[in-house]
Amino acid sequence: MAPCAFSCAGVMDPERLVQCPYDKNHQIRACRFPYHLSKCRENNKKIAQELATCPYNARHRVLKHKLKLHISTCPDNSEPELFSGKLTWGIV
Ligand SMILES: [Zn+2]
Ligand SMILES: [Zn+2]
Repeated sequence: MAPCAFSCAGVMDPERLVQCPYDKNHQIRACRFPYHLSKCRENNKKIAQELATCPYNARHRVLKHKLKLHISTCPDNSEPELFSGKLTWGIV
């Protein structure tokens, strides 16, 4: 369906540091991020329940009540077919 959703797809520098959504003190390389997320989620199950996954980028985890806001400003919100263009486009 959307094979690019979880791959780097050249968009993100694999060496770039990304902040962990579960712990602000965690800075993880982008290439390790999916692995770290699955581990860190185990340690932060309560927080994990509060988080939703961005439909544009599986790496984006945001608080559920902030998902709408995130979607409207998501930097990856440039592929309307992923979300059938229902939402207004945010900043590209
Ligand atoms: Zn973490
Ligand atoms: Zn996003």
